[in-house]
Amino acid sequence: MFSCIFCRVVSGELPSYKLYEDDRVIAFLDIFPAVKGHILVVPKTHAENMFASDPEDIKATMKVVLDLAPKLEKALGADGINITINKGEAAGQSVFHTHVHILPRFKDDGKSLWGPMDSKPDLAELYEELKQNL
Ligand code: 5GP
Ligand code: ZN
Repeated sequence: MFSCIFCRVVSGELPSYKLYEDDRVIAFLDIFPAVKGHILVVPKTHAENMFASDPEDIKATMKVVLDLAPKLEKALGADGINITINKGEAAGQSVFHTHVHILPRFKDDGKSLWGPMDSKPDLAELYEELKQNL
């Protein structure tokens, strides 16, 4: 567990630009920001991803996200905010310790998170499949 980068940030073994901390949660600047003001909100207790975390940790983390995101938006004069969680390598997760990204967005920042699929699935068919399985 202690080779986990975010556990090392939590313990203070690795330095970070810490913006918030309480007994369950810490928030700090992302070291490779995708946009200006990109921050990470992280439950202190190690779990591989949000589904493996204690729901109380997720609750505490999201409370901090809800508090910090609008403050960050205002502080930087941003035009909007993305809040993202990447779960699994296929979704872009590279650090396997639960975390939430807060990304302030600026009208002309040139970032595009996603666009429509090249080939759209049959939505009626997909809907039936999902209704059976969710
Ligand atoms: P993921 O790709 O897992 O959703 O996000 C991991 C994030 O952690 C990336 O945006 C990456 O830049 C950031 N990151 C990786 N290592 C460090 C580190 O040592 N310190 C900080 N502050 N951020 C890190
Ligand atoms: Zn960890």
